[in-house]
Amino acid sequence: MLARFVNSLPFGLSQRITKYYFQALVWNQRTTHSSPEFFEYQNMNVKILPALKDNYMYLIVDKATKEAAIVDPVEPKTVLKAVQDECVNLTTVLTTHHHWDHAGGNEDLVKMIPNLKVYGGEDRIGALTDKVQHNTKLQVGNLNVQCLFTPCHTSGHICYLVTAPEEDSDPVVFTGDTLFLGGCGRFFEGTAEEMHKALIDILGNLPDNTKVFCGHEYTLQNLKFASHVEPDNEHVKNKISWSQKKRQSGMPTVPSTIIEEKLYNPFMRVTEPSVMKYVNKTDPIETMKAIRLEKDNFKG
Ligand SMILES: [Zn+2]
Repeated sequence: MLARFVNSLPFGLSQRITKYYFQALVWNQRTTHSSPEFFEYQNMNVKILPALKDNYMYLIVDKATKEAAIVDPVEPKTVLKAVQDECVNLTTVLTTHHHWDHAGGNEDLVKMIPNLKVYGGEDRIGALTDKVQHNTKLQVGNLNVQCLFTPCHTSGHICYLVTAPEEDSDPVVFTGDTLFLGGCGRFFEGTAEEMHKALIDILGNLPDNTKVFCGHEYTLQNLKFASHVEPDNEHVKNKISWSQKKRQSGMPTVPSTIIEEKLYNPFMRVTEPSVMKYVNKTDPIETMKAIRLEKDNFKG
């Protein structure tokens, strides 16, 4: 339609319009921090939708019923397009925490798609319909979603563990700003003790093969700090070169797995002598507190 209209114009003008059209396309690509990526698993699909400067939204689809959930839909128009492209029935919003770059799209999305259930851990979350607690369970089609209360970055932060009914398929966890690849969120509303509980006792006890989808593309910055903490850790070095290749081609570094994080993420490794030694501590919670402080002031 557009092509036919452009072709009907005098040659010079059509050439100019085509040029501006492609410039707009290039600009559009330049303003997106990563390419969208689609992961197909046994019972579910996860579509990574990059948003803002370095945020990720995730469309989770139950393959059997085509029912879908969206994690942190800060850009509702992008979400709506993905829902249409994938021909799925979006019923559920899973909000990790109230910060605007995660929950800021909720109000507009519920206006675009009626009857959405909006889950989250506290009342500061826009358009909230269902407040959840630790171990609250819900369904998205045949998929099971378990809420994990992980306060610290914010006092109401929730991670969402998604499992399929078949036991042989890998679980998937959406960790918002609690656990990042190679790092963790700042302690805005909590203590080192709470982050220790979240990372070591809760997320650290998930099965090793659990896939980790986090809220931001911070991997390379985090791993730079990790290599400062543990310069001899081969897992850190390998993940840096792998992540550099991914980022050079504009691809997301998510997901990782829980076992991977235990090998290179210093915040998951606060019981390791090498990490404790870096901050001169002998207690894991003191180590958690001290390395967070180091990371907050780390210039790289
Ligand atoms: Zn946040």
